[in-house]
Amino acid sequence: MAPVYFTPGPAQLYPTVAQHLQNGLDKQVFSLSHRSQAFKDLYRKADEGLRALFNLPQGYAIYFTGSATEIWERSLQNLTAQSSFHLVNGSFSKKYLSHAQWLGRQAQAVQVPFGEGFDIDALAVPQEAELLAITQNETSSGVCMPVQDIHALRTYFPEPLLSVDMVSGAPYAALDFSKVDMAFFSVQKGFGLPAGLGVWLVNERCREKAAQLEGQQYTGGHYSIASLQEQYTQFQTPCTPNVLGIYLLAHVVEDLLAKSIAVIRQETEAKALKLYSFLEESALFSPFVQKPQHRSPTVVVANVEGRPAAEVITALKTQGLVVGSGYGAFKDRQIRIANFPAVSEADVDQLLIALKKL
Ligand SMILES: *Cc1c(COP(=O)(O)O)cnc(C)c1O
Repeated sequence: MAPVYFTPGPAQLYPTVAQHLQNGLDKQVFSLSHRSQAFKDLYRKADEGLRALFNLPQGYAIYFTGSATEIWERSLQNLTAQSSFHLVNGSFSKKYLSHAQWLGRQAQAVQVPFGEGFDIDALAVPQEAELLAITQNETSSGVCMPVQDIHALRTYFPEPLLSVDMVSGAPYAALDFSKVDMAFFSVQKGFGLPAGLGVWLVNERCREKAAQLEGQQYTGGHYSIASLQEQYTQFQTPCTPNVLGIYLLAHVVEDLLAKSIAVIRQETEAKALKLYSFLEESALFSPFVQKPQHRSPTVVVANVEGRPAAEVITALKTQGLVVGSGYGAFKDRQIRIANFPAVSEADVDQLLIALKKL
């Protein structure tokens, strides 16, 4: 039996990926010119699928990049001249902040300890912030920001552009895109695809701001919003894109829609409930995130008590169950379990049986 990957990225591939890959090879899709009508049709298919999956309002554009990391940089280059504000509660939100600092922006942040979320009602965002950057799901600590909190940010702080890193929360997170300005993800986490493709969802407010700044500063050149948008209106890309990634994404999104996003959300919550209930009762493990409302349904982080986490990881691996290690300083004390759509309830049950025997 092939192992099951509960790692939070790269992650278990969605079960239909192998068949789609073979079909793509059979149809010689990966030799197609990216200027051909067939490619435009593929981009359109991905676009329509993602619009339906996320219930995207009119006016949103969907651009493809190389990674989510690239979108951190491009969003700051295109959408800020001076300042950004970041909610930092782990390694990924901190990296978004670092990109702003590298670009010389006056980047400010509110930071809470690893494993904690934010009290939205107590938040203050400086007037001058052009972009408010949040991480919907901190893959490093297993803390998620409830979507209602993200929506409330728009009410509290209507001015700054609201940018949502949803890399390890998509497609589960039921974000109302009319209450944010941009969001992004890469495909090797919740979509269960091979790495190497970033997806950037961008509304008109962002395009207006980018147009104001165009010509005044470096915007990322070929991957400026202006350039991406110009190409997008023809379902084209500024350079040869990851056709393999786009092809697999278009087809897996079709599969997710056939199953229905509501069912995927229910299944995610049911599996998360099983995992957290186990952690709460276990003597060997405990949930790292204390506040239940901040516990991520998609990336479950557990403390390992009384023995090195590496022992647990190795023991599981010999049974064909691959879980992630703790992040950074927590490597020796924690494990991370991805609960993405590619992981079935039967997979989770099998993992729970193995965890109980440890
Ligand atoms: C993995 C991850 C990223 C980075 O994605 P890349 O595809 O490696 O650029 C960014 N944000 C979050 C929350 C992530 O989990």
